[in-house]
Amino acid sequence: KLHNTIQELKGNIRVFCRVRPLLSGENSSEEAKTISYPTSLEALGRGIDLMQNGQKHCFTFDKVFVPNASQEDIFVEISQLVQSALDGYKVCIFAYGQTGSGKTYTMMGRPGNPEEKGLIPRCLEQIFQTRQSLRSQGWKYELQVSMLEIYNETIRDLLSTNKEAVRADNGVSPQKYAIKHDASGNTHVVELTVVDVRSSREVSFLLDHAARNRQVSGKTAMNEQSSRSHFVFTLRITGFNESTEQQVQGVLNLIDLAGSERLSKSGSTGDRLKETQAINKSLSSLGDVIFALAKKEDHVPFRNSKLTYLLQPCLGGDSKTLMFVNITPEPSSTGESLCSLRFAARVN
Ligand code: ADP
Ligand code: MG
Repeated sequence: KLHNTIQELKGNIRVFCRVRPLLSGENSSEEAKTISYPTSLEALGRGIDLMQNGQKHCFTFDKVFVPNASQEDIFVEISQLVQSALDGYKVCIFAYGQTGSGKTYTMMGRPGNPEEKGLIPRCLEQIFQTRQSLRSQGWKYELQVSMLEIYNETIRDLLSTNKEAVRADNGVSPQKYAIKHDASGNTHVVELTVVDVRSSREVSFLLDHAARNRQVSGKTAMNEQSSRSHFVFTLRITGFNESTEQQVQGVLNLIDLAGSERLSKSGSTGDRLKETQAINKSLSSLGDVIFALAKKEDHVPFRNSKLTYLLQPCLGGDSKTLMFVNITPEPSSTGESLCSLRFAARVN
């Protein structure tokens, strides 16, 4: 490992809270307001309070981003983690929150507006720029991308060119997409497409391909569909220095989690109920794992869900984890926001 980062001194699990702005048509009256947070970006603070039924709930996170925090403001705070991945660390960045709270905005951004690019494209730009600038010091990097979706505890390959293979109801054989971890902490997902990439443009092309594959499976509309599954973007980074013969292997996982809304609100029955139970199970398993790691417990229950088992080598040890808890300021979402803040406070 090349650098001792500040992250290392502060421990390896961080939680950032991001409150999105009210959208047009949402209730913006002062009386209805239930969330209070730092009032300006300069006063970027760590506390967030939420009022529910006359009761005040106070939370503290590593950082709280107010509604007018820009995508760049967010990226500045995480670019150190991207550097860590280049230095050979395993990094996971999650976006957690109810549907509509800004997870996909945080991760991907708003298509077509460069200022509103999200973390994934910004991380890739940083990585390709750094790769370029380290060339003069003898460093060569190989970068490989895979993208998958976990839906109802089943993995789907989003970079597959075979449309049948990504269809949910296709009865994929159990051997397909089996998760294997080798002794050196590398994860191999059987038959998952892995693509060598040389530029951030190539990666945007793959992201578009993945977005199209996510739509294949649906009777349901794409937004709805995507909010019911976890999206996992993985970049494997292999660096080799020709003059010093140093070698590094880092991984950057960027995860847009399924919506965290509770059973009652989504009024689930039948298939929907099954989906919701799968989502609740994997999100609570993720919480359990991060909580156990934060508390340095001996037993970490990685095997309780596909997501935590997949990411096992990238969670714990000297890997680095950042969780965004995305919150909407909409008064009618206060109950859900409270659930999200409690989840995040537990892992913080
Ligand atoms: P999620 O992925 O959690 O379901 P989205 O990212 O799709 O939520 O966000 C819901 C809506 O709110 C979208 O229309 C998105 O553009 C908007 N939005 C979310 N966060 C922000 C933000 N920080 N600034 C402006 N608009 C946002
Ligand atoms: Mg989304």
